[in-house]
Amino acid sequence: MSDLERAAASLAARLPEPLRPLAPLAYNMRWSWMPGGDELFASIDRERWQRCRANPVRLLLEASNEALEAAAADDEFLARMGELTAAVEADLARPDSTAVDGTVAFFCAEYGVHRSLPIYSGGLGALAGDILKQASDDALPVVAVGLMYREGYFRQRIDVTGWQQESWVDSDPDRLPMALITTPDGGPLSVRIPVGESDITAQVWEVRVGRVRLLLLDTDHPANDGVSRWITARLYVGDPGLRLAQYLVLGIGGMRALDALGIDPAVLHLNEGHAAFAALELAAREQRGGASLDEAMAAARARTVFTTHTPVPAGNDTYGPNHVAHAVHRAADEMGLGVERLVRTGRTNPDDPHEPFGVTQFALHTSRAANGVSARHGEVARAMWNGLWPDRSVEDVPITSVTNGVHLPTWVGGPIRHLLDRHLGEGWAARATDPRTWDALDAISDEELWDARSRQRSALISHVRERSVRERLARGDTLDYARAAAHFDPDALTIGFARRVATYKRIGLLLGQLDANLSLLAGDTPVQLLIAGKAHPRDEEAKHSLQELFSVRGAEGVSGRVAFLEDYDLDTAARLVGGCDVWVNLPRPPLEASGTSGMKSVVNGGLHLSVLDGWWAEAYDGSNGWALPGEVWEDTGAQDARDSAELHRLLADEVRPLFCDRGDDGIPHRWLELVRASMRTLAPRFGAGRMLEDYIERMYPARASTPR
Ligand SMILES: *Cc1c(COP(=O)(O)O)cnc(C)c1O
Repeated sequence: MSDLERAAASLAARLPEPLRPLAPLAYNMRWSWMPGGDELFASIDRERWQRCRANPVRLLLEASNEALEAAAADDEFLARMGELTAAVEADLARPDSTAVDGTVAFFCAEYGVHRSLPIYSGGLGALAGDILKQASDDALPVVAVGLMYREGYFRQRIDVTGWQQESWVDSDPDRLPMALITTPDGGPLSVRIPVGESDITAQVWEVRVGRVRLLLLDTDHPANDGVSRWITARLYVGDPGLRLAQYLVLGIGGMRALDALGIDPAVLHLNEGHAAFAALELAAREQRGGASLDEAMAAARARTVFTTHTPVPAGNDTYGPNHVAHAVHRAADEMGLGVERLVRTGRTNPDDPHEPFGVTQFALHTSRAANGVSARHGEVARAMWNGLWPDRSVEDVPITSVTNGVHLPTWVGGPIRHLLDRHLGEGWAARATDPRTWDALDAISDEELWDARSRQRSALISHVRERSVRERLARGDTLDYARAAAHFDPDALTIGFARRVATYKRIGLLLGQLDANLSLLAGDTPVQLLIAGKAHPRDEEAKHSLQELFSVRGAEGVSGRVAFLEDYDLDTAARLVGGCDVWVNLPRPPLEASGTSGMKSVVNGGLHLSVLDGWWAEAYDGSNGWALPGEVWEDTGAQDARDSAELHRLLADEVRPLFCDRGDDGIPHRWLELVRASMRTLAPRFGAGRMLEDYIERMYPARASTPR
């Protein structure tokens, strides 16, 4: 019996006999992207399901006997449970795909699998979660490695002055769908990681994401001192010593955990530089097997591939040589690499003694292949890292691109999914990369399509109404302002803007043409705007831009037209991308590596309005959404002013009139034409299925790899 099976059996033993199959279901995240999965658990006790943040293990531990006995006596419930259990079991029993030669070990610092598992912060995590789910759907032999953050990322509240306040919630792993991995003698498996002068002990939790094992290292272990126990407490801690310690635990500890479990990956996929030290440990392993230092480094490199996710400096962190030397010297010395050479490997120009150590440079140097996350980001990354290959021209820099994609079963809302099931045929998600699958969109009537869109918008708006009242009152806003939340309109043109609040994402442009925008909000055919996003706790500039946004909430007409939803997470994201008619993205080009929230919107029949940067630069064809120019301007102030005016012009002159152009039946037929064009051209190209096909073709070893 595996540790997860044991945990499920012990949970099952506490349940009324007919409900016992719920326990193994609860211990595999697969239910979360099974139609009816959420509803099954929710129907046991809806209020508790929300209180448990949709965590089925907690629900089953905390639900009252009455609620459990009622479900156990409900034949309809038991029938649904039986169907879901059978579907999950059949999915898990499929043989592995042979598309990849051997196991892929996927390393990432965060995973956004589901809101009940709070070990993610934003886009990188959401993408990693989508990759695991798609790998499971495609039966690819993937094992994933990450960190178990007991306090996760921060929870966001905005106070009455508009300032972001952060808090952290300590989660109890025993109530999460995970189990501590034990050794055959019954004790917890632990690995040791040399960090500075200490040996850190990490235990390993396992989460099942469908067929994929996700291993999470956790230093909150009694063998460690207080500081070391804190290493994996929170995502992206600010202290450089702790940050490097996290990277060592993830990279070196992750490889050692795989080793201890007898997993010998054919390829190491480092998803962002945080995991760069995994390649070092792979080399050390080769060396223990008898290879010389250079042979070992070459062998590790031949098995390592690397994805870079952002050109923004904060996402390519660097450390002073002394910090790195202190943290990594024992790992480097043990294998005879030496700190000096290690630090050189993390520099663009190894001979520059003043250049700090960069994790991205280190990963680029120690991997066989590298990619950016959109075609444009590939170009940007080749130019950005040209210095690592000084004798090559920009075009010849060996960084390719694999454009991100989103996991369709996770992101497509219920009404649109039903529509696609009916018209594209069951199992359409597995055929999504074939453009012909989407031809059937033409056969969907405008009535049906509009009905599905309207249902998703209505569901979002009732959520916004309810939630805004609570958030406004909790913040200390006036009763009138709180009551105004009732004015959000389920039929009004609804525009969404939600993402991490970082300066380059230019949330401030929404306010650029303030007076004109307020008139857009106030007119007879109103527009409403839904905003969400967290600023990194140390990003004062971003927090100021949030505060500026809040400063206009008292303006005429704003209270029932503009909502800021606190604490942006996977759940809020799914609601927003499901219900918004238009999804806006305003990055300062060329800093948006990809962006994925817009993809989530278009697969729900939302329309995308974005700067021609990231994925949109290769997606927009002139007739499947709206675009702002993507050139790079020296004078960013002037560019912001131009873009803000252009955004306003598009909304006032193109978007709103099209939405308001109704037939006698009240349906915006021309709008729906655009929705069809958007889904037909974009859905086959920006799903996670296509992304994994590209990774297999361009990055993973299908056969003997070609050195670059
Ligand atoms: C999809 C997603 C993101 C990424 O959105 P971008 O468009 O890349 O900014 C961030 N956070 C959450 C919660 C998401 O679901």
